[in-house]
Amino acid sequence: MNNIIFTNHVGRQLDQEITAINPDRIFLLTDINTRDAVIPRLQMLSQRVADAHIISIPPGDLNKNLDSLANIWQQLSDNKATRSSLLVNVGGGVITDIGAFAASTFKRGIPYINIPTTLLAAVDASVGGKTGINFNGLKNEIGTFSSPRQVIISTIFFNTLSHTEILSGYAEMIKHSLLDSPQEFSAILAYNPDPVDPDRLLDLLQRNIRVKSDIVTIDPTEKGPRRALNLGHTAGHAFETLAMERHTPIPHGYAVAYGLIVAAVLSHIKCQFPTDTIHTLAAYIHQHYGAFAITCDDYPHLLEIMTHDKKNTGDGNISFTLLSAVGQPQCGIPCTPADITAALDLYRDILHLP
Ligand code: NAD
Ligand code: ZN
Repeated sequence: MNNIIFTNHVGRQLDQEITAINPDRIFLLTDINTRDAVIPRLQMLSQRVADAHIISIPPGDLNKNLDSLANIWQQLSDNKATRSSLLVNVGGGVITDIGAFAASTFKRGIPYINIPTTLLAAVDASVGGKTGINFNGLKNEIGTFSSPRQVIISTIFFNTLSHTEILSGYAEMIKHSLLDSPQEFSAILAYNPDPVDPDRLLDLLQRNIRVKSDIVTIDPTEKGPRRALNLGHTAGHAFETLAMERHTPIPHGYAVAYGLIVAAVLSHIKCQFPTDTIHTLAAYIHQHYGAFAITCDDYPHLLEIMTHDKKNTGDGNISFTLLSAVGQPQCGIPCTPADITAALDLYRDILHLP
């Protein structure tokens, strides 16, 4: 994927790309938090977006919905957007998902640029071509695969994000490094992302996002190898759902971090993943993310949530992406409820949970 640009000279890069696209009108999509935290700065840095038409929607994943989408289409239409108009999506994953979907469908597709302003959007949501909205109570139920003209990855907007937001995105970077190589894994664990050092983090991001973009290039529509990117997400989604049901939601990345420990333990049980690496990973996660508390009373429900994961085959086993070593993913490994129960026991032991 050669449309991803890493730079902390965002204004210059954006102006150059807009000149190349030569749109008749420019629209900026943002949410109301990003409009306050980022847009004034972007307007100072970029001459071309200084007087773009701004469309803002309410923040948060609950607003990644049909109402917000209709509002975006309406404003494009009312302000005479044509096939030669450009939409610049400036925000977190909610904005890059819904903005990309709006652009990929308006008049059968207009060009768009993603400028992710959260670490999670930079490392995950804004690259890979999946767009969409939530619908009928289901996450990302409606969407398209579509490519932005450009994704401009920069770390200069991250200083207004909370510690929690930064760590949530960083968990996806830990995941990528586990899929990549022992060197990248060590580099990720050696770095403390808070406070953000913009140039150092940009350099790490550039190497880290390559893991996702290389996989997506081979398998854009998730027929096979792209499933590697689910590492940590089977148990992670179950923890995320359980936390939501307990009315104490946890950020997606935190759930993934805990899910990575379960995946590492299962990788040991099924694929001989080395125990010292499990302990290195778990120590880092415990130090920065704490632990998600579960007891054995939660196991049946966690297994039930994992069984209903849409990626399962239906034979009673639960399919996991695991690792035989750092850098060697194994996709679609069937795990029995007994395997998973053993892994959850070890997860509690390692994190000193009662
Ligand atoms: P988000 O877009 O809701 O952003 C989190 C919060 O940070 C929001 O309140 C936002 O207004 C605020 N914000 C954004 N940039 C800011 C900045 N620079 N300073 C201060 N506040 C800022 O959430 P997210 O975590 O970025 O992304 C989550 C979304 O991404 C979910 O909808 C998820 O489904 C989607 N996602 C998509 C993919 C994909 O492949 N398409 C992958 C992962 C996640
Ligand atoms: Zn994720």
